[in-house]
Amino acid sequence: MRMTVKLALSSLLSLSVPLLSVPLTCRAASDEQKQYAWSIVERNATPMAKIGDSLFYFAELGMQEFESTKLMKEVLEGAGFAVELGAAGMPTNLWAHWGSGHPAIAIVSEIDALPEGSQTPMELTRKPLVPGAPGHMEGHNTHGGLAAAAAFAVKETMMRDNIPGSVIISLGPAEEQLISRPYIVRAGYFKNVDAIIYLHIGDQSATGYGLANYASISANFSFHGKTAHGAVDPWDAKDALDAVELMDVGAAYLRQQLHPTYRMHRVITNGGVQPNVIPDLAQAWWWVRDANMPDARETFEKLINIAKGAALMTGTTMDYQVVAAGWPQLGMKTIAEAIQSNIDRVGMPRWSDDEQRFARELQKSAGRQEVGLKTAVTPLGGRPQSYASNDNGDVSWSVPAGLMTYPSIVPGIAIHEWHAAITPTSTIAHKGMVTGAKVLSAAVLDLMTRPELLQKARAEFDQETRAMPYFAVLPSDAKPPLDLNKATMDRYRAEMRKFYLSERPRLN
Ligand SMILES: [Zn+2]
Repeated sequence: MRMTVKLALSSLLSLSVPLLSVPLTCRAASDEQKQYAWSIVERNATPMAKIGDSLFYFAELGMQEFESTKLMKEVLEGAGFAVELGAAGMPTNLWAHWGSGHPAIAIVSEIDALPEGSQTPMELTRKPLVPGAPGHMEGHNTHGGLAAAAAFAVKETMMRDNIPGSVIISLGPAEEQLISRPYIVRAGYFKNVDAIIYLHIGDQSATGYGLANYASISANFSFHGKTAHGAVDPWDAKDALDAVELMDVGAAYLRQQLHPTYRMHRVITNGGVQPNVIPDLAQAWWWVRDANMPDARETFEKLINIAKGAALMTGTTMDYQVVAAGWPQLGMKTIAEAIQSNIDRVGMPRWSDDEQRFARELQKSAGRQEVGLKTAVTPLGGRPQSYASNDNGDVSWSVPAGLMTYPSIVPGIAIHEWHAAITPTSTIAHKGMVTGAKVLSAAVLDLMTRPELLQKARAEFDQETRAMPYFAVLPSDAKPPLDLNKATMDRYRAEMRKFYLSERPRLN
C-alpha cells in the first residue's frame, strides 16, 4: 500500500492563523545559531547516551515508566525545565516546559519497553538479562535522551539570543498499547501548542508527510452466558465461548466486504476452563485498523453488530470496552521540508569499520541481507504509509505535526523482536542520537524563528483537517488503565533492578 497524501498548497497562505502571535522582530534561525545548538548537542553526547542507556536497563512497560520518568524529570529540571508528572490522570505522563508564550513548539515521544524483550546488549545469541522480563526491543530508550538534549540545545540558544517562545517535551505513557495520547489531547494539553515534532528511532535519517501509518481501534468483547455440565444438562447452558466463536465466523465473512486497506486481528483471552463445564464467560480482544480513522470506525461498528448477533444466536449477553484508539499520524509537508533541510545539512553519522562489521554480523545472524548501516540520508517523499499505528496520531490531528526518524537501528532488524534489543545501547545507537538531536534542535529553531513557516503549516493543517475532521473514538467516560502491565513489572522489577546503572546523567 502506497498511500501518501500530497497536499495542494495553493492559496493556503490567505487563511488566517488566530492562535499564533509571533513577534515580527524575530528572525529566521541563522546558521550560526544552529551551529551553536549543535555544539551543545555534541558537548552532551555522553550524558545523552547515558540517559538512553539508563532507560534501556529500566525497561519499563507502558503506564509503569516510574523509574524512567523519575530520571527524565531529574535531567530536565537540572536543564532548567519545569516538569509536570501525572498530567491527564496518568502518573507516568511527563510534560516539561521552558520559556513563555508563543511560538510554543513541542517535542513528542515515548519511552516504554516491550514484554519479554530482555536481552544482553551486543550478544548475537538469545541471552536475556532477566529471563521473561521486558526489554527495549524497539529502542524507545533512545527517545528520552535525544528529546532532552535537543530541547536543552534549543533552550540555551533561545536564552543566548533572546528568542521568544516556549519549548515543550511531552513523553506519553504506553505507546506500545496506543493508550495515552487521546487522553492528553482530551485534557487540552496541546491546545496552546503551535506545532509539534514527533520523533521515533529508525534505521534512517528521514521525515515524511501525509498519512504516516494506520488508524487503530482496540476493544475487549465479553460474552456472559449460563454454565451447565457439558454432558448431563448441556440444554440448560448458554455457551459464552460459542458466542466468541460465532463472532469470529461473522468477522471472517465480513472480511470479503471491507476496503482492501483494512486489518483485523484478535486473540481469545478467555475461552473457559475445561470442556465439561460450559463457560458462562468468554472474551476476545480485537484490533481493527485501516488507512484512515473513519473507515476503521465503520468496520469497528460492523464488528459490534456481529458481536450483538453472536449474543442473540447464543442467548448470551455482550458488552465491550474500547481499550485504545489512535488516529493515523498526519505529517505536514511544510514542517517535513524544514526537517529535511536540516537532515540534509547534518548528514549521516560517520560509522566506524567496527560498527559496519557488527551491523553486518547482526544482519547475518538475524537472517537478513548483510547490507550494513546506511550512509546516505533519505530524500523527502521516500516513505510509504506504514501498517503500524501510534497513538501520537491523535496529537497530529490536533496540532500541525512534523515526523522524524534518526538512524539508531541496524537496517533490516525488525522491531518487537529480540534482535532489536541488541543495539539500543551501542555506539551505533549513540551516534544516531547525536544526528537526530542536531536535526531536531535545528528544526525546532526553524519553527521558533520563522513565523511564515508556522503560518503555512497551520494553513495546511486547517485544510487537511477540514477534509477529515478529528473525532474522539475513546468514549467520553473512559479512564486511562493505570494498572496496565503492573503485574508484569511487579514480577520482574527486583531482578531487573540489579542491572540499573548507578550514574545519574546530567546535561551541561
Ligand atoms: Zn515505537
